[in-house]
Amino acid sequence: MSESVPDVTPVNPRSPRDGKQPQPGRILFFDTTLRDGEQSPGCVMYGPEKLRMAHQIAALGVDILEAGFAIASEGDAESIRNIAREVGSSANAPVIASLARAKREDIEAAARSTEPAARPRIHTFLSTSDLHLAAKLKITRAQALDQIAEMVALARTYCGDVEFSPEDATRTDPDFLVRVCEVAIQAGATTLNLPDTVGYCLPQDYAGMFRMVRERVPGIENIVLSAHCHDDLGLAVANSIASIQAGVRQVECAVNGIGERAGNASLEELAAIFVTRRDQFPFRHNIVMNQLYPTSQMLATCISFGAAPNKAIVGANAFAHAAGIHQHGVIANPLTYEIMTPESVGVPHNSLVLGKHSGRRALEHRLIELGHRLSHAELDAVYHRFTELADRKKTIYDQDLIRLLKPEPKVSALA
Ligand code: MN
Repeated sequence: MSESVPDVTPVNPRSPRDGKQPQPGRILFFDTTLRDGEQSPGCVMYGPEKLRMAHQIAALGVDILEAGFAIASEGDAESIRNIAREVGSSANAPVIASLARAKREDIEAAARSTEPAARPRIHTFLSTSDLHLAAKLKITRAQALDQIAEMVALARTYCGDVEFSPEDATRTDPDFLVRVCEVAIQAGATTLNLPDTVGYCLPQDYAGMFRMVRERVPGIENIVLSAHCHDDLGLAVANSIASIQAGVRQVECAVNGIGERAGNASLEELAAIFVTRRDQFPFRHNIVMNQLYPTSQMLATCISFGAAPNKAIVGANAFAHAAGIHQHGVIANPLTYEIMTPESVGVPHNSLVLGKHSGRRALEHRLIELGHRLSHAELDAVYHRFTELADRKKTIYDQDLIRLLKPEPKVSALA
């Protein structure tokens, strides 16, 4: 990373009360691939895979890496600790965060597991919508405020960097949400994340909520405001960028948009928006753009699915021009139908078409472009599977190669 992130990044240099947009500054990328992403069906990862992904996500340039939910299991706590030690211990490494409910044992587990990191963060949360308070937590609003004050303050005794999230913020009574934000800031929260937990918001609603808290909460100009959006209505990225226009400076997101239910905001889409539409989003950020595709491909090898072919930025068809008119235009001038180049987001240029006539070197070259450097023996094994597949399939796509990295399950094991 080119610069370090202070515990509290100066944001919103103008007073929120002067009615103007915040000045351009820095957008912090908070990656939750290994926490919210990992807790969705088909996305379970074990220690070594998480560590491998964490190295890659750090290389991608994220500012904060949420490594897991320490209290959830011994395995989770151990894996956060390994990531904190092996990925997060250098001075320019990302902040390493653990999620924690607003409970003493959770916060203590989060503090223990992130302790080896140079810059640890405790991310604690409590539901604040009346629905969640009554149906899930069975506590009153007053009890919730007390719990927030006590647990955020406890977290601050372990860590100078504390993020608080009022879960289901977008369905929380606005007046109560203002109180919640005040209490969390007074107790020492340095980042305030207002999640659209159920993916219900429209962009203007989500932006309006942030404008409202910036207008009404004293001291909010001294903390980082954060967005956390879910894609239940396909609006996670739209809501995230609307919130940035309302003063948010941290976006929570995941590689390939994985996450609970329909997923979180997609990291690669947000990064590509900030680069391609700099005219509207003149912010600095640390994402290494040509690592987007290799990161997406690596995640596909760690979980049970890859990006859909029509997924923006990293899908197999994201830069494929099939229609004759489009092909003609792109050959004449790529700008006719491309708003960014495949190379800019790390998609290998397709100078090599892999098929049954391809050799070991061509296969090795493409695998390296995809971020996989194999040993001699591994390459032999993958090449053998490659030639078998090439006998059955005319063109071998990148996703086929990724699948070849994992041996197919033995049929006998299924019988
Ligand atoms: Mn979430």
